[in-house]
Amino acid sequence: MYIVMLGAPGTGKGTIGKILSQDMNLKHLSTGDIFREQISNQTELGKKAEGYMKQGLLVPDDVTMGMIKARLSEDDVADGAILDGFARTAVQAKALSEFLTEKRPNQSQIAIELNVPDDVIVKRLAGRLTCSNKSCGAIYNLETRPPKEKGICDICGSKLVKRDDDNEETVRKRLVVYHQNSQELLDFYKGNNTLYSVCPKNLDEAVNNIKEHLKGSN
Ligand SMILES: [Zn+2]
Repeated sequence: MYIVMLGAPGTGKGTIGKILSQDMNLKHLSTGDIFREQISNQTELGKKAEGYMKQGLLVPDDVTMGMIKARLSEDDVADGAILDGFARTAVQAKALSEFLTEKRPNQSQIAIELNVPDDVIVKRLAGRLTCSNKSCGAIYNLETRPPKEKGICDICGSKLVKRDDDNEETVRKRLVVYHQNSQELLDFYKGNNTLYSVCPKNLDEAVNNIKEHLKGSN
């Protein structure tokens, strides 16, 4: 089974994807990891991508898609994988779906959207505190994961700080951009009946809900 994780920044998409990956014994592939792997191995596509990135340019779709296809052709993901950060556009989603249908015809494909209301995301990120010790970098949340001692990191004892990009205005701006860009993508998955949308109250609920759904669809 190939699962595409969709959702705005702050929905817990990455964390939920990793939990599912362990529970279901499927590899968790993030676009960032695939890029880094291809670049450090200096593959043809990796070198191309690196060139664009060094110039501060967006890596074109065909290069990105080429790297994703190369990764998804490897044996360790023959039974499926959880994709985080790809596809980002309807064009990419279509290309991915066609590729998987041809390459892995016996595997099902599903897209999971974490549909968390913007206000909840804003509240969540606005309550986030990060350890000021860069080599620690632990993340806390005043609501869901408070430190034992106020303002102090449980792990290393350093001061906790609020990151600049976790303020409400920045988060709202990011969400507006996300919604603009994701509509077509969601429509694509709705159109081929592979979209499952969850609006979980917390991580555990999300994971349980998704696993129940996947059991039913297998
Ligand atoms: Zn720390």
